[in-house]
Amino acid sequence: MPFIPVGRFAPSPTGPLHRGSLFVAVASYIDARARGGRWLLRIEDLDTQRCRPEYDTLILQTLQRYALSWDGEVWRQSQRHAIYADHLQRLHAHPGLYACRCSRLRLRGQECYPGTCRHLALAMSGHALRVCVDARRIDFDDRLHGAQSDQPATQCGDFVVWRREQGAAYQLAVVVDDALSGVNSVLRGADLLDNTARQIFLQQMLGLARPEYTHLPLLRDAQGRKLSKQNHAPAISLEDPVSELAAVLAALGHPVSPPLCRQGCAAMLAAVASDWDVRRIPLPA
Ligand code: GLU
Repeated sequence: MPFIPVGRFAPSPTGPLHRGSLFVAVASYIDARARGGRWLLRIEDLDTQRCRPEYDTLILQTLQRYALSWDGEVWRQSQRHAIYADHLQRLHAHPGLYACRCSRLRLRGQECYPGTCRHLALAMSGHALRVCVDARRIDFDDRLHGAQSDQPATQCGDFVVWRREQGAAYQLAVVVDDALSGVNSVLRGADLLDNTARQIFLQQMLGLARPEYTHLPLLRDAQGRKLSKQNHAPAISLEDPVSELAAVLAALGHPVSPPLCRQGCAAMLAAVASDWDVRRIPLPA
């Protein structure tokens, strides 16, 4: 049976899309469409402090303006607490969870959680919850970065799966949602490459299928800084999507000709999809 990808774009509505996020959206869209697959949209709005409904609306409008049309309903993580809670219970049974009262300040500078609260038996409500990791190594292939091997126990230690204020933490929500929406191809920025072993660990604990992984190089500004909301990357244009899309396609190693650009975003995306090769995406030296 041929592999038919189900890809997705999963933005957090903490600001407008910038060129770095459009780069990921376009690549995941074309990578799924080029192989006859589906492309889903999920709004990752669990962090109520930082997410805003107006950015959710703006992201949808922007994707439509760029002819990035998704399949099916948009999923919103803020509406899925009961499903995450159910999966949390399964982790409770195995491999185990514990409450943690360590503040971010206290843990600052420590990459690997030292297990401070593991044996304190704190109340499970009103605290963050960490999942107990064992010594296993997680090996996986990335379509651009090749063979990867990480050991959560030494990379990050027991990690947070439930936050006091927001409920499900990113690692748990992403794994549950990808699996339940049938996503079998995760394409996202390389800043999330080192989260992947944790996510595969959770898939193994929950008995969920592992998608294929592709981590894109990060786009940088003229000063070499990652294009991100934290670095105040400018919002992408709604007025001139063709020029912006042409720049993104060139950065993906698939430049398009001026006559094609005159036909608009949908034609540009379709033409690149018919000639797409993920290995043409340039990786930094
Ligand atoms: N919501 C995440 C972000 O905006 C992406 C998560 C993912 O693709 O796994 O960076």
